[in-house]
Amino acid sequence: MDSYCVLGNPVEHSKSPWIHARFAELTGQDMRYGRMLTPMDGFEQAVREFRASGGKGCNITVPFKFEAPKLATELGARARLAEACNVLRFDGERVYGDNTDGIGLVADLERNAQLALAGRDVLLVGAGGAAAGVLGPLVEARPARIVVCNRTVDKAAALVERHAQLARDNGVVLTATGLENVTGSFDVVINGTATSMSGAAVPVPASVLKPGALALDMMYGPAAQGFMAWAREHGAVPRDGLGMLVEQAAEAFLIWRGVRPPSAQVLEELRAKLAA
Ligand code: NAP
Repeated sequence: MDSYCVLGNPVEHSKSPWIHARFAELTGQDMRYGRMLTPMDGFEQAVREFRASGGKGCNITVPFKFEAPKLATELGARARLAEACNVLRFDGERVYGDNTDGIGLVADLERNAQLALAGRDVLLVGAGGAAAGVLGPLVEARPARIVVCNRTVDKAAALVERHAQLARDNGVVLTATGLENVTGSFDVVINGTATSMSGAAVPVPASVLKPGALALDMMYGPAAQGFMAWAREHGAVPRDGLGMLVEQAAEAFLIWRGVRPPSAQVLEELRAKLAA
């Protein structure tokens, strides 16, 4: 049976094994998917061992997304731009790396939340692996403006620099700033930092929210509730990262198996399961 897994640290919380098991069931694919807690300095070795044991592919989560491209013999355009991978596929000696976080996020916003990004003002908070993965597909959705703001401003500036040509090609005004200097208000605010995961405060002031803005935290479950309450309190429509999680998983499944699973159904089932 073909074998897949998610590597990360921490990884116990990951819903990916449940999601992929459900995708496999619904599409009749004979495969299994596990989770692998990976030592902080042991990512490369863990991938090598998983491949040697017959593994066909893996997802990569915090904090290894920036390490993963080094293991790929071939990178998809999205992973090249992000300089980060959340998915690897093993074909004999070849290792294909890609990044599905961004198409997952855009699918969740546009399909599941029914928010057309074209012409909107978007604030992307964070410049780590997750933010790097989503910026390209966000630009390609052609909002009017994207501001990337991060605690370490240099990382936001580098990310914006890498996407400058893509932004020009798509007619998007793309700029970088530090957390303290963010001004103006936005239709869509995306928290791609690790603040919710670590229990830290929402890293931007409520003034960034236009009335009725959509405010999405890439986190989900109890850890996302603080951000969601903050958004609700300030007149925004809150959204967690569960839809992004399921949609990025669906794109990874497509890369591995060549079959698109019914992601909307699985998202609905997962929400019901977590609410029970
Ligand atoms: P990462 O590479 O470690 O990056 C962490 C980011 O958070 C950096 O921008 C960092 O700023 C910022 N940060 C950390 N602590 C902060 C604080 N106290 N105040 C302000 N900023 C802070 O992690 P990642 O891979 O980008 O993941 C970020 C989050 O997205 C995690 O919660 C992860 O679970 C979630 N995620 C969800 C999905 C999904 O499918 N739903 C997919 C990917 C990621 P500096 O650069 O200044 O350090």
